[in-house]
Amino acid sequence: MNTPNLIFPEFVPGSVWLAGAGPGDPTLLTLGVHHGLQNADVVVYDALVDERILGLANPAAIKEYAGKRGGRPSTDQSDISQKLVSLAQENKRVLRLKGGDPMVFGRGPQECEALIAAGIPFRILPGITAGIGGLAYAGIPVTSRDTNAAVTFMTGHTAGGDIPDDVDWDSLSKGSPTLVIYMGSKHLERIRDRLIAAGRPGSEPVALISKATTADQQTVTTTLKHCTDVMAISDIKAPMIIVIGPTVGYHEAFSWFHPS
Ligand code: SAH
Repeated sequence: MNTPNLIFPEFVPGSVWLAGAGPGDPTLLTLGVHHGLQNADVVVYDALVDERILGLANPAAIKEYAGKRGGRPSTDQSDISQKLVSLAQENKRVLRLKGGDPMVFGRGPQECEALIAAGIPFRILPGITAGIGGLAYAGIPVTSRDTNAAVTFMTGHTAGGDIPDDVDWDSLSKGSPTLVIYMGSKHLERIRDRLIAAGRPGSEPVALISKATTADQQTVTTTLKHCTDVMAISDIKAPMIIVIGPTVGYHEAFSWFHPS
């Protein structure tokens, strides 16, 4: 890649870069993360990171899988944090590569805390989060001056496996015209019921965006009332972003990404 006028930070041995790989499409990777891939000694990556992105790493780099799936830890979080610390203590340049943005529903903060506790220097390299990039590829604006002046990103699934209990559903329902929900498919029925009970109309538009920005992207639009039935009938699969709110109405006109 010809980037003569750019000055990249030095990837210092013994440090960790916590980086976001974006939602799927490798062309959404930032130049900074690309630089990190080319200069890392070890890449510790998650389940949703595309093979082609890993293919951009320095061929000499060791690639270590540290994924989790379906809310079930396949590698324990403290093991992952400990691995990052140990690799850095071996004086490696460690690229911790996560799907989307490392600090959006991705346990990046816990890894930062472990690095700080061990005195390991780190950088945070943002990535395009699924709740923004996925909407772009589905032709759904995150905000539009004609529909919503605010947006809420939320998780539908906590570390404990339940829907978040620290959410004030009444306030959320009244205060946020657009909700962008990560990990929401498992508990969609309960999320729908709580929102309707808190006053959101059943006729409100909803979009389910699956495998956004990849060749398998699928978008289904429905209403809040019918969203769980439609999810079941359409057989749309996780990973999925759920959008609830008026900007979903733009989807039909703005839909531009049609993977074959
Ligand atoms: N750090 C990530 C989110 C990790 S949580 C980010 O910033 O995007 C994992 C959840 O993200 C998935 O359950 C799903 O809700 C969402 N997600 C990630 N990639 C996705 C994709 N390509 N399409 C749809 N949803 C995606």
